[in-house]
Order: sequence, then C-alpha cells, then structure tokens
Amino acid sequence: MAEKFDIIIVGAGTAGLSAAIYATRSGKSVLVLEEMAYGGQIINTPEVANYPGIAKISGFDFAQGLYDQATGLGARVEFYSVSEVADQGSIKMVKTDGGDFEAGAVILATGAKNRPLGMPHEEEWIGSGISYCATCDGAFFKGKTVAVAGGGNTALEDAIFLSGYCEKVYLIHRRSELRGEKHLQEALRKKENVEFVLNVAIKDLAGSDHLEAVVVTDKETGEDRSLEVAGLFVAIGQMPKNERFADLVELDQGGYIVAGEDCKTSHEGIFVAGDCRTKAVRQLTTAASDGAVAALAACAYLEQQ
Ligand code: NAP
Repeated sequence: MAEKFDIIIVGAGTAGLSAAIYATRSGKSVLVLEEMAYGGQIINTPEVANYPGIAKISGFDFAQGLYDQATGLGARVEFYSVSEVADQGSIKMVKTDGGDFEAGAVILATGAKNRPLGMPHEEEWIGSGISYCATCDGAFFKGKTVAVAGGGNTALEDAIFLSGYCEKVYLIHRRSELRGEKHLQEALRKKENVEFVLNVAIKDLAGSDHLEAVVVTDKETGEDRSLEVAGLFVAIGQMPKNERFADLVELDQGGYIVAGEDCKTSHEGIFVAGDCRTKAVRQLTTAASDGAVAALAACAYLEQQ
C-alpha cells in the first residue's frame, strides 16, 4: 500500500522547502520529493544579497538553512523523481521511481531548468567546454579564456566570478543593453580582463571533439568574429519542466503552471509555488512567499475535505 501524507510537495527548492516549513508548522504530515539535490537553483549562486533580513549569504548556505529548518520541523525529504500525479478524488496518487505515495493535497514546486542555446554540439560538449554552472565548473578553467552567454543577473555574476581566476572572460549578449542589475554591471565593467561582446548572435560553437571557439555575428555590421575560448558558460535564463503535469493542470504558452497569487491551479487540491508558476517576478523572495501561500491554501483545502 502507498504511504499516505497530508501534503506532498514536488521539488525541494526555495518554494518547496518554504511550503514544507509552513505545512509542518500547521501540523500536517509532509513529504517533499526531489529528483536532484535539495536547494534548487540557488545553490549555484555564490552570493545572495537581496533576501530581506539577510545581508549576505552563499546560495548553498541559504539552501542548507531551508533544508535543516524544514526537516527539523518534521518534513520528510525523499530523492525520487515524480513521473505523474493522478487525482483519485480525495486522494492524489503521486507516482515516482521509488514507488507511489498518497496525499490529500499536492504542491508542485518544480522550479525551472537551464535554457540551452539550442546550438549544434551544445549538448554533446557539456563537460568538454560547455557548462551551465560557473560556480560548479569554473575552477576547471583557471588561467584560461572563457565566455559567458547572457545578459541577466546570472550571466553577470558568472562573469564576475570567472574573472577572478580566468585569464580573460568574454560576456556575450544578444542586445546592447544588459538586463542584469546596475551594480553588477558596474562591478563587471571594472574588471580589466572582461570584454563585453554585445549586440551579437551566437552563430557557431566550433571545435573538433571539444569547444575551441564561439563564433558570433555582429547584428549591426553582419561581421563574424571567432572568440577562441576553452569554455562557454551558458546563462540565458530558465525554462519550466512541467510537461509531466500537462494533463493535470493548465499550463501557459511558455509551459508554466497557470495560477494567480493564491497559488491555486486549475485542478482542485493541486497547488503550485515558485518559478514553475506563471508570474512576473521570479526571485528567492517570491519563491518563499509562494511556498507560504501554497502551503496555507493546501491546509485550508484539507480542512474543508
Ligand atoms: P534572465 O534574467 O531571464 O536573463 C536571461 C538573459 O539571457 C537575458 O539577458 C536574455 O536576453 C538572454 N537570453 C534569453 N534567451 C536567450 C537566447 N535564446 N539566446 C541568447 N540570449 C538569451 O535569467 P537569469 O539571469 O538566469 O535570472 C533569472 C532570475 O533570477 C532573474 O529574476 C534574476 O534577477 C534572478 N537572479 C538573481 C540573482 C541575485 O539576485 N543575486 C542572481 C541570479 C539570478 P534579453 O535581455 O535580450 O531578454
């Protein structure tokens, strides 16, 4: 027989673990299911400096704090991949590669995954020059020349981080304006070993069996330029990973789970929290906020049953 919990949370990122904290504190039995490592995307951020009340903390320490708090309050975390959530009336059946679990309510907090450039060789050369995580892989490129693709906070932080021990860092962005915060832009402009390569399209990833150069085309002049690099860090945002729930809850055109600020999905008893939801601002604070809202909504739903 499948083990039963009041609430099952799918995903142990900031939203999922925040939901676990609120649900356990409301007296509910909680299972958090995570397919990778707990903490979500934030574990790859070297420094978090915009979470209210915490002046500065590493992403890893932040995630560890959330995990310790949630499990300390009694939430159980299991590392299984969820393949399906099936509604059987008052019971929701959550199917995983570690067996089935039952819940009265489910919170989907699956976050998002790194968006690929979609270039030939990109997938093949992961680990041979292509990376999506500067803090994880940056050390392999000590003293070498690398490039970062993207213009958001992640790309800027990655470039700052890599400039500390790479010989040279190219920041490649598709527009002339960077999207990331001004203070990060200013910090990056002060780095002498960083070159901005703006308003370009990435045309080719060149190499034999590993990355050797990134070929870019200037959008104004149409000229190609080959940047010889040992590594390319792709930091062009995230995409949701909600395909497996497409038959259960409504998804928007981008694949995000449709819900308002009340975190209620189109399906009764199924709630959503964090970056996997339709929303304008995807931040740690909004993920934590969603976790609280979804957990309390799930508790209220269970009380009504
Ligand atoms: P993001 O803010 O969505 O930025 C993605 C960047 O990649 C944009 O500059 C975008 O260009 C570019 N891009 C998107 N698709 C592309 C494509 N197909 N080809 C080339 N370039 C492409 O993503 P992010 O930087 O990962 O940040 C995600 C969220 O986390 C944001 O809300 C960010 O503020 C937050 N974050 C916060 C911190 C922090 O506070 N310490 C650190 C990291 C991330 P355009 O600008 O032209 O759209």
